[in-house]
Amino acid sequence: MLLDAPRTPLHLADVPEPTAQRGQVLLRVHVCALCRTDLHIVDGELTKPKLPLIIGHQIVATVAQVGEAVERVAVGDRVGVPWLGWTDGVCRYCRSGRENLCEHARFTGYDIDGGYAEYAACDERFCFRIPQGFHDLQAAPLLCAGLIGYRSLVAAGDAERLGLYGFGASAHIITQVARHQGRRVFAFTRKGDQASQRFALQLGAEWAGDAMEPGPEPLDAAIIFAPVGALVPAALRAVAPGGTVVCAGIHMSDIPSFPYDLLWGERVVRSIANLTRRDGEEFLALAPRVPVRTEVTPFPLDDANAALDTLRRGDVQGAAVLVVDEQAAQPA
Ligand SMILES: [Zn+2]
Ligand SMILES: [Zn+2]
Repeated sequence: MLLDAPRTPLHLADVPEPTAQRGQVLLRVHVCALCRTDLHIVDGELTKPKLPLIIGHQIVATVAQVGEAVERVAVGDRVGVPWLGWTDGVCRYCRSGRENLCEHARFTGYDIDGGYAEYAACDERFCFRIPQGFHDLQAAPLLCAGLIGYRSLVAAGDAERLGLYGFGASAHIITQVARHQGRRVFAFTRKGDQASQRFALQLGAEWAGDAMEPGPEPLDAAIIFAPVGALVPAALRAVAPGGTVVCAGIHMSDIPSFPYDLLWGERVVRSIANLTRRDGEEFLALAPRVPVRTEVTPFPLDDANAALDTLRRGDVQGAAVLVVDEQAAQPA
């Protein structure tokens, strides 16, 4: 499914099969989960995609072919491919364990063709082994919703009372992880979104309600997954002194001005950018121990536009996943 230009629908196209260059593997894609970032790319809010482009950065696939000098994976291995597709390894960020901020990073489904396709090529160093016990559909949302959510959760510190703003794919995973860690979860949704509120309560949140109002008690930290700048002052209002507000998304509408009083008391506002491979390894080791159970809605590959629209409307409970290879994606 090809994107020719921002703000146009994807279209089904035949393109040459990629080849595995030195250090790369050719992947036969089983499934690819949707991410809100995909919408930001299609909608032109992220302004520098390669074009034409195959989007998609939560790929579960098997290795079909290995390029020269590939050592970590072999033909037939099942792997997952995340957003971080390549780093230079030499910049000040890479050298200090912060490759998520690499000055020359390349991203899957943005700078590099991604997973809304039958085949993809990726750098062997930037794919993960999928833990046992997760079938393809279940595993795909772990690769960004789970991973970025996990990095955000770590950034929230050891907060006991955790607020999650926007109850989509990330929040539904992170609620499970946070409960496993003994935290208390408060889910903040759009006003009157009872379906999401019920879903949050089912997954272990102890309270769910309107995002623009403070919760039943002060929070120690909040993570904002929805791309809505107005949630930043709302979340600051809801956190106790010393609390952190983490903005997990790659794009957000403008943040309205707010009185300094909301930030006073050593409250912190910070963003989360991308991921490191270490985040991936840590989270994929943790997910089976929780164990995380993802709720997924499958769509066929050629329904990608409809799937994106469903996500844009907020009508997906859990994660939407494109099924590229029906045979391969069957639960074992
Ligand atoms: Zn770098
Ligand atoms: Zn993503």
